[in-house]
Amino acid sequence: MGKKGKERAKERREKRLQEISELRKKPILTGNRWWSSETVAVVTGANRGIGFEIARQLAAYGLHVIMASRDAERGRQVAEMLQNEGLSVNSHQLDISNQASVESFSKWVVLNYGAIDILVNNAGVNFNLGSENSVEFAEKVIETNYVGTKRVIKAMIPVMRPSENGARILNVSSRLGRVNGRRNRLGDANLREKLLTDESLSEELIDGMVAEFLKQVKDATWMPNGWPQMFTDYSVSKLAVNAYTRLMAKLLSSRPEGHRIYINCYCPGWVKTAMTGWQGNMSAEEGADTGVWIVLLPNQLPTGNFFAERREISF
Ligand code: NDP
Repeated sequence: MGKKGKERAKERREKRLQEISELRKKPILTGNRWWSSETVAVVTGANRGIGFEIARQLAAYGLHVIMASRDAERGRQVAEMLQNEGLSVNSHQLDISNQASVESFSKWVVLNYGAIDILVNNAGVNFNLGSENSVEFAEKVIETNYVGTKRVIKAMIPVMRPSENGARILNVSSRLGRVNGRRNRLGDANLREKLLTDESLSEELIDGMVAEFLKQVKDATWMPNGWPQMFTDYSVSKLAVNAYTRLMAKLLSSRPEGHRIYINCYCPGWVKTAMTGWQGNMSAEEGADTGVWIVLLPNQLPTGNFFAERREISF
């Protein structure tokens, strides 16, 4: 790109950032409020960062929020902090990479609440910063971000309350996991096509992709094989989350009126949290905004879509 091209791209970026910041100032449709203080939302990884902010903002809109945290004591402390601000929150232990923890969490929810209306799968890990691209923790990254998210979805679907507004699942994902993103895309055109085609998209296809990646990591053969080039393990995990979101939307779409579950994913942007070493161009509060906006949309919201900055983006 020449100097003029770079300047134009910078201008476009700045204009877009300005538009986004204006969008975030818009209040969320309180006129169309479908929820009440009885509406229950679960947010995973709610003890800090974007998860904490999503929990805080949902509670500030008047919902009851269960702040699920891997460390029960930290969860209790953050919940107490928000309770002291007058917000309706509770906390419970949840390690999404542990099947027993997920099962015990869902049993606790049934016992104490009967059902939930919203599930925000926010918990996630990434072990690289800046230009690093180690795959040392690839297994943990895939296990947490993709397998853990899937595990929580499977355990919580039976616990989602039937309602005319529809229950809502939101997966906090990343643009790094876009199949067809301009940068960082998957090199295998055939796999890209299969992931994007409803007829060929399946859990086996997604599981097969992550298993193949992990096998190549183990054999140390992954590097020249066309995997996303930036934060490779993390990008593969979010690619899998995105594909799983579309798959679940398809599987859930046959539910009758009154039993609908809408499922979407979103990218919060580049957010200053522990995960990014506090680098980024926005606060956790701003990063949470689109997530809160999606799950509070009125009845008949979209499903199987990917969002960023309060608008739909492509997979
Ligand atoms: P943080 O590292 O601040 O928070 C991550 C949260 O996930 C923590 O609460 C952490 O708990 C929790 N967590 C990690 N592993 C598990 C587990 N096995 N079980 C339960 N909870 C777990 O990161 P962010 O707030 O930035 O990230 C939140 C989400 O946003 C992630 O899914 C991330 O991938 C996504 N995202 C973030 C971006 C950014 O720029 N920050 C950009 C795009 C997406 P603990 O405190 O116990 O470790």
